[in-house]
Parts: sequence; structure tokens; C-alpha cells
Amino acid sequence: MVDHQPAPKMLHRIDTTASSLDTISRPAVFFDRDGVLNVNLGFVYLPEDFQWIDGAIKTIKYFNNAKYLVFVVTNQSGVARGYYTENDVQQLHKWMNAELAKQAAHIDAFYYCPHYPDAKLEQYREVCQCRKPMPGLIQQAIREWPVKPTKSFLIGDMDTDLKAAATAGIKGYLFNEENLFNFSTRVGLIKQ
Ligand SMILES: [Mg+2]
Ligand SMILES: [Zn+2]
Repeated sequence: MVDHQPAPKMLHRIDTTASSLDTISRPAVFFDRDGVLNVNLGFVYLPEDFQWIDGAIKTIKYFNNAKYLVFVVTNQSGVARGYYTENDVQQLHKWMNAELAKQAAHIDAFYYCPHYPDAKLEQYREVCQCRKPMPGLIQQAIREWPVKPTKSFLIGDMDTDLKAAATAGIKGYLFNEENLFNFSTRVGLIKQ
């Protein structure tokens, strides 16, 4: 379980050979967070405001059991706007994984963008490569984990999510309904 701030300076280890990656690479599912895993109430950062979308935990668990890598890629401009801190974001993600653990499910890593071009807080005011529709969060996950992009996909609730996926070279699915498990089954991502 890892919680990353996407590093703007992009210092990354390159200590794994391509051949070893190939032998162990796995399909991955990238979930947008707000509106896909939790009801989008706007700038959620407290566990008491976090309402799981119906079928979300079951869907995560399905992909855990199917040996997918499971990631969250989420814009969190509430940090740049001064509504909450990066520590709040990280604590919420820890809480999510603690809740998932109760049902033997987990998210392998969370990637979030704290930036915003018109940020109130100067240190987060930038046009970055990680705020969707830019693909930086997905690309960082692909660099840091043994992902097989051709077998991977994103589920998001906005066009900007799908744009990020397309630019990163993975398939994207637009979710805008009630139950994530039923949706994932209907579009053929979950096979029963
Ligand atoms: Mg969303
Ligand atoms: Zn960013």
C-alpha cells in the first residue's frame, strides 16, 4: 500500500530490467476515485463524508482476486485550493485501505494530483502533467509497477479521465451509474 504524491521533478528508480518486468507484468485497473469508488459530494477528505459507491468494494476485490494491480488515480485540487492538506488525502486513502482490508480487498497504490493552475496556495500553483486529462498519474504508476498496459484499463466518470487513459495508451470506460460491479460486469470487465 503506497500513497504517492506525483513528484513534479520525476526522480524515479530505473533498477528493473525490461526482461524481468515482462515476465511478471500484470494487467492493471485504474480507478478514478470521486464518482467511481465514492459518491462525489465535492472535495471529500474526511472518512465520515466518504460513501462507497454501491458495488465498489466488491469490484476491487474481484480484481484483487483476478491478480490485477489496482490503482487509484485522482485529481485532488482541494489541496491547492487550501480546503485540505496532502496529509488529509493520505490519511483518507489509508482509511480506505483499512476498510477494504476488512473485506480482504486492497488498493495497491494511490496516485493523486494536488495541483491547480489557479491555486490559492503558491506551492501547488502549476500547470502540471499529473492533473487529468494529463496522463502523468497513470504513467507514473506504469513506471513504478510491472503493469501490462495492453491488458489494463481505467474506469472514470468524466471525459477528462478517459482522455488521460487514452493519452497513456490504455482503454477507458465511462461510468455514470449506480452500481460499479453491475457496470463492470455489463461492459465485460468482470466475467461471471
Ligand atoms: Mg471523478
Ligand atoms: Zn498535478
